[in-house]
Order: sequence, then structure tokens, then C-alpha cells
Amino acid sequence: MIPFNKIYLTGNELDYIQQSHKEGNLSGDGTFTAKSSAWLEHQTGTQKALITHSCTAALEMAAILANIQPGDEVIMPSYTFVSTANAFVLRGGVPVFVDIREDTLNIDENLIEAAITSRTKAICPVHYAGVACEMDTIMAIAKKHNLLVIEDAAQGIMARYKGKALGAIGHIGCYSFHETKNIISGEGGAILINDAQFAARAEIIREKGTNRSQFYRGQVDKYTWQDVGSSYLPSEDIAAFLFAQLEQADYITERRMKKWQIYHDALEDLEKKGDLRRPIVPAQCQHNAHMYYILLDSLKQRTELIAKFKAQDIHPVFHYIPLHSAPAGRKFARAHGDMKNTNNLSERLLRLPLWVGLAEKQKEVLKVLGVLGLAGLYGLANLLDITLFKTFNGIALI
Ligand SMILES: *Cc1c(COP(=O)(O)O)cnc(C)c1O
Repeated sequence: MIPFNKIYLTGNELDYIQQSHKEGNLSGDGTFTAKSSAWLEHQTGTQKALITHSCTAALEMAAILANIQPGDEVIMPSYTFVSTANAFVLRGGVPVFVDIREDTLNIDENLIEAAITSRTKAICPVHYAGVACEMDTIMAIAKKHNLLVIEDAAQGIMARYKGKALGAIGHIGCYSFHETKNIISGEGGAILINDAQFAARAEIIREKGTNRSQFYRGQVDKYTWQDVGSSYLPSEDIAAFLFAQLEQADYITERRMKKWQIYHDALEDLEKKGDLRRPIVPAQCQHNAHMYYILLDSLKQRTELIAKFKAQDIHPVFHYIPLHSAPAGRKFARAHGDMKNTNNLSERLLRLPLWVGLAEKQKEVLKVLGVLGLAGLYGLANLLDITLFKTFNGIALI
């Protein structure tokens, strides 16, 4: 069986959890929370990183910080996870969907300006597959129209745009550490505060609307109810697990990048023959190998290919059902313009298994793709042996 995703453990998770138990500090904001925040701040260059229960929680905090009021609009892609939209809908906001680019599947920055109205408050770009949106253009539009930029960088840890960490470019950025992401803590996330005006309030919102964080630092002698808020901080167990992962983020990313590149090299000929399209990573984007997807010709071809994989007990998966066509999307949001690329690409995309430790099994995945069409199985197998030999030679195969 080759699953789509398999968790990778560094081996330090349980040690760190045990350490946190010994310290007797199980609730949030203990030693490992502080270590994780410091790591994120150092890695991304953000002013303040706060870990949360999930990226969903970080997005909800962002919507409160952005002061979204009923009827306020937030521009975002429809090709994204529900939480991007839900976080704003919970505050009465209206997601306004614009189409995605054909190359990166990210929000088409050239369609954003036409979707702006007097109610628009924010733009929420989503960095699909850890490949950055065109942030220079998006930031310039936001500045011109006085809008906030909240990055959904759920998939973006360790990825960069023109050298800047994803999530640390807009006013606020949100990461996910869900077990399907590159760096994990089961459920988990972080909010990056890149604009000082939000720093104090972010702490309060995260701590049930109180200034408990200031109290713990000895800045006030008691803590009280200050603002709206909720409980967005994870317990120390989660932070301890997360820190074990963060410490090895370079290694994990490197290993994923190798797997990504093996797919990319091996599928070059199939792309040249027109059998599929490979991911496109613009030169200014340093991605993090969050995902390897292929684009087929049609939904029919994708369905047939999934069946072929299933017959070999291999489990690739498609991705988002566009939000504008979902029941809640029709109720709570609206689309601006036709969703041509969103509708078309979402039906043709297939994500291949990619995890640390995939090793030799990757060959099995590629073999199935060999029967797609023009490249004969034999020819592809030969090509793979060469590619795999070159790439695997000299590195550990766990
Ligand atoms: C995974 C993901 C989320 C949600 O992350 P959670 O940590 O599970 O809440 C949000 N947006 C995008 C683009 C994602 O990929």
C-alpha cells in the first residue's frame, strides 16, 4: 500500500513532551511554546509569531485583527481550503472569489483590482503547494486601496518569495502544522504578525480577550478582560511536539525536495509528449516541496488514472472542490468574474504520494504513470532507473 501521506517523526517528539511534563507546565505558553515562537521569528523574520491550535484558528484571529464587520469583503481564490473563507464568514464577512493563474494555480493578481469595492477590507492570497503568489503586485494593490493582506501560508513553511519567507510578507500570515503539512504537530498552526499595530491585540485575542500574556511577563499586576477573544493557544504537549519538528525543518524540507525533483525529472518526457503537465515554479519562488501534482487532460482521464493507481494499492488524491460551487460558498460568498481556470484546473489536478521515506516506492508510482500513453512502460522504466540511480546514489534510503 502506498498512501498519499505518511507522517514523519524526528524521534525527539516524545522526549520533549516528557520534558514539558517534568516542568509541570501543561497549559499553553510554557518553555516549548516560547522556543517555537522564537524559532519561527528567527526563520521568517516576522516581528511576532504566536502558535495556535491550527491554521484555521490563526485565520480566525486574523479576521478579528482585521476588524472584519458584517458585509465587509475579502478577496481570495475559490481554489482553496474552506478555512480561508470560513474565518471571515464567521465575522459576517463576504469572501469574494477571483480566478487563479493557469501556471501556479495561485490567485491571479491581475484580477484583484477589478474585484475591489467600497466594502473590500482585505486580500487573502493562498500560496498553493508552497509556491508564492505574486506578492509584490498584491502588496502594491493593497497599499493603493488601503487594504490588509492576510497570507494563507498554511502550506508555505520554509518557502520563500524573492528571499522573503511566505507568511512574513503581508500584514499577517498563517501557517498550518496539520499532519498533512510539511512540519506537523497533529493539529497546529501559527499566526505571524508582520505589522506592529497588531502585536498587542493578537496576544489578547489569543488569550480569551485578556492581557494574561502581559501578566505572565510581569508587565501588569493582574489580568482582566480587555477585548473580544477566544482560546487559540495550544497546550505545551503540542508545542513540545512541534518544536522537535521545527528543529529539523531544514532536513525535512531537503528530503521532500529530493522526492519532488525525482518526480519532476522523471515526468519531463511525458510532459514533452503532451501526456500531462508538471508544476510550474516561477524563478522568484523558492518552494518547499509541499506537494507534487500533475495536470491531466480531463476529469475523465484523471478518474481513469486514479482507478489504475488504486488497482496497484497506490493512493494519489485530487484536491479542492472550488468554494464558489460548494453549498456554503453559494450562500456566504460571491464570485467575481468567470472561474474558468478554477473550474478547469481543479478537475484535472492529481496529487501524487510525497513523504519523507517514500524512497523506492516512488518508482511504483511512476510506473503507473508510464502506462498513461505515449511513453511505453519499458522506456519509462529505463528512464527511471537512470534517474533514480543518479538521485539515490550516496543517500540513505529510509
Ligand atoms: C491545511 C490548510 C488550511 C487549514 O489548516 P489547519 O491547520 O488544518 O486548520 C487552511 N488553508 C490552506 C490553504 C490549507 O492547505
